[in-house]
Amino acid sequence: MAERPDSRVGHGMAEPARIEACANQDCKAPFHSLGEGKLSVFAIHNPLLWGLPANVKQKALWLCGRCCQHMSVRLDPGLHQVRLIPKQVQPVPKQAQPRQAAKVA
Ligand SMILES: [Zn+2]
Repeated sequence: MAERPDSRVGHGMAEPARIEACANQDCKAPFHSLGEGKLSVFAIHNPLLWGLPANVKQKALWLCGRCCQHMSVRLDPGLHQVRLIPKQVQPVPKQAQPRQAAKVA
């Protein structure tokens, strides 16, 4: 009933960001949908330096489902480059840790 006609999704007009492929240059898996992988959107103040049109105020980066499991994206504001940050392996919560660490030689 109260469905808004200005839903910003789809139809290719004024996309806030264009995503073509996985941000991992070694992967470049084609982007299919927001339902898979991980989308990160960063606010940018100098789009031209990022190779974007001057009216673009954000940069969206997408990692495919495989890459997002072991890395995340960040922007380097000094170099205007996309950085891929390997994710730290989650430390096992202490209470779930098996007690084999007590074995000291
Ligand atoms: Zn990927």
